[in-house]
Amino acid sequence: MLARLAEGGCVVGAPMDDADVIVINTCGFLADARDEAMGVISEALEHKAAGHAGRVVVAGCLAQRNGEELFDQAPGIDAIVGVNDREAILQAVTGQSRSQVNPCTHRIGSDAGRFRLTPKHVAYLRVAEGCSHPCTFCTIPAIRGPFRSKLAADVLGEAAELIADGAIELSVIAQDTTSYGSDLDEIDLVGLLKQLDSIEGATWIRLMYTYPRRFTNELVRTIDQCDHVVPYVDMPLQHISDGVLKRMGRKVRRERIEELLRELREANVTIRTTFIVGFPGETQAEFDELLEFIKEFEFDAMGVFAYSPEPGTSAADMPDQVPDEIKAERVAAMMAAQQEIVFAANQDAIGQLVDVLIDGVDEHGRCIGRHAGQAPEIDSLCILTEPRPAGQILTVEVVGSEGYDLIVQPQSDGQ
Ligand code: SF4
Repeated sequence: MLARLAEGGCVVGAPMDDADVIVINTCGFLADARDEAMGVISEALEHKAAGHAGRVVVAGCLAQRNGEELFDQAPGIDAIVGVNDREAILQAVTGQSRSQVNPCTHRIGSDAGRFRLTPKHVAYLRVAEGCSHPCTFCTIPAIRGPFRSKLAADVLGEAAELIADGAIELSVIAQDTTSYGSDLDEIDLVGLLKQLDSIEGATWIRLMYTYPRRFTNELVRTIDQCDHVVPYVDMPLQHISDGVLKRMGRKVRRERIEELLRELREANVTIRTTFIVGFPGETQAEFDELLEFIKEFEFDAMGVFAYSPEPGTSAADMPDQVPDEIKAERVAAMMAAQQEIVFAANQDAIGQLVDVLIDGVDEHGRCIGRHAGQAPEIDSLCILTEPRPAGQILTVEVVGSEGYDLIVQPQSDGQ
């Protein structure tokens, strides 16, 4: 969208006070995200009412989910653009279109020629759009449509363009990366990773958002064998108890998950996951099983969500909804257990040498970076004892920790 606006002659990124048009790209996945988006929309509408902005345009998942009802929910919005109609963003901004929200069915095109907001050295590489899995709690298939892979030639072309533009780390993303190629004849995720790995200049390729049922043993081997695919996997598991997994519609059982995790650990792959607690009908015994499991397995990084009953999903109508206070207690118990695991692992890491990609200076003036087991935006960080320029990889020694983050001392500068 940003590239379309820039090509159309818009100056992207002016402060909100001086903007002719405010474009809000929204998330609509969970109630919390929708509330946040509505808060930002209200703020923009106040700006407009006070004469500080000409138009307010709402794009993204909330526009897709709520459609033209958004005009009634937040009077003053000038135009909406759904997730499949980003090409219409210029018309929305210039006043030639009021509403473009269409269903998601077409194959996604190339994202080449992007106007990037991330620092030069990190980039997201979207390989597919939508999801066709039947998870009973999830609105994503309804919002973003069925799973569609991007053609391999488009993915590889974008990757080469991003690397030529200075990207050192490419995070491979989709709603489910492991389904990549299931709707194409010639390639799957294993084949795609091998081709990405061989692009000249590729440095760190990171696999995000994998789905356990589709995670093959061959994929574990490929991550292990590819030089530039970092030994890191993000695999949202959601739960471990077979009863809950079944009600969630995850189509995978504890036994297979454990087998997969064992293989990943044997290949020294860092594993990040997320869980949902308080799913309808989750008994104390099922929750205890999950808590025991995370204490035993010791994930490298973990996020926990309290189940959110989303309108339009079958889980929202299931019996035995768990009270909010129990959900909050379960989230807290999970996070307390995980904190102990990570803090102990950080102590064990002291003295180790690791390669760190420097991200730059944070809001506290500290130079920060990440080792290969730390994904951008969501994972912990490495805090450097001495500043180094952003976008370089250098070897550091872990000399301490601060909460979830590591304190590291540069050893040698290099590439
Ligand atoms: S695999 Fe992920 S995106 Fe797809 S339905 Fe399940 S939770 Fe939603």
